[in-house]
Amino acid sequence: MNCSATPPAPRFITSALHRQPIAAPPHPLAVLRAPLAEDLARALGWLRDHHCQPAPQASQAALEQYHAPAYLDALARAEALQDLPMADKRRFGIGVDSNPIHPAVFRRPAVAAGGTMLAAALTAAGGVVFFPFGGNHHAMPARASGFCYINDAVLGLMRWRALGLGRLAYVDFDAHHGDGVEHAFADEPDILTISMHEAGRWPRTGTTSDPARNVLNLPVPAGFDDLSFEHLLQRTIIPALVAHRPEAIMLLIGADALADDPMARLALSNQALWRAVAAIRSLCPRLIVLGGGGYNPYAVARCWAGLWGVLTDQPMPTTLPNSALDVLAGIRYFRAEGRNPPQRWLTTLAD
Ligand SMILES: [Zn+2]
Repeated sequence: MNCSATPPAPRFITSALHRQPIAAPPHPLAVLRAPLAEDLARALGWLRDHHCQPAPQASQAALEQYHAPAYLDALARAEALQDLPMADKRRFGIGVDSNPIHPAVFRRPAVAAGGTMLAAALTAAGGVVFFPFGGNHHAMPARASGFCYINDAVLGLMRWRALGLGRLAYVDFDAHHGDGVEHAFADEPDILTISMHEAGRWPRTGTTSDPARNVLNLPVPAGFDDLSFEHLLQRTIIPALVAHRPEAIMLLIGADALADDPMARLALSNQALWRAVAAIRSLCPRLIVLGGGGYNPYAVARCWAGLWGVLTDQPMPTTLPNSALDVLAGIRYFRAEGRNPPQRWLTTLAD
């Protein structure tokens, strides 16, 4: 695999299909997420059309590289009929367990899969891609799980491998264990999976590591803060990545490990996540950053827009332009905190 001396400028993969919430309150996904980050990055002047490429819908054949045909068929039927027989719902986890049937329940995750596979192709010769619409890390081969229907992260890693990259690493900073990705690659030690997540939180897996299989799980306690994260990053995560010598790294950033997230009890700032991404980026010529979880739309928008600023080497502004303030002012958040949001959610980027 050739690696050019000057890597291409970072790319941003978009998805118009993700501009609708997929559920109604009180479901956690009754908020906009990645589109707000995209809008905020544009309002800051950091994201322009030449950075962007739309995510294509993954083909059936591509999806079947990981997912069972019967499951994909059920997902397509759920979209067409907006319902499924109860036996299929229970068998496949579609329309049950917080995985709602919505008008794009097949297309939307199939586009996310196409986006992450496109990210793999765009970075095969080197470079950085941010795809905040991706990161469905809980989806299993024949079962929806944790609001995830198709595991775009797994399919993206598989695409890198098909393009000739052997040693890969997957790093997951979402508050929930990256169980679907670990499940896919636990028996393939050339793919190192690292998941840092809140101990005891759903899906309650990821309690132990398996060094022989290159599975590293780092459960952390409620209240886990920036200083503890920096320590874990420098003492454990970065040394594990350096020792593995990956040709490419996929990073699921998440935004539910932030202190402002309503679904978890970790206490990170967005600046800590930005520093971690910058440190990991320096380790490897190929990087894909995916979105993942995050259920406070103010926190998601500010974290992921700022992340794009980090990836494109922008100076962090202390005051925001009116265009950015307008994006933040337009956010709708159904929870109690959303009725009277703190001023910093409306006027700042960095926590
Ligand atoms: Zn999560």
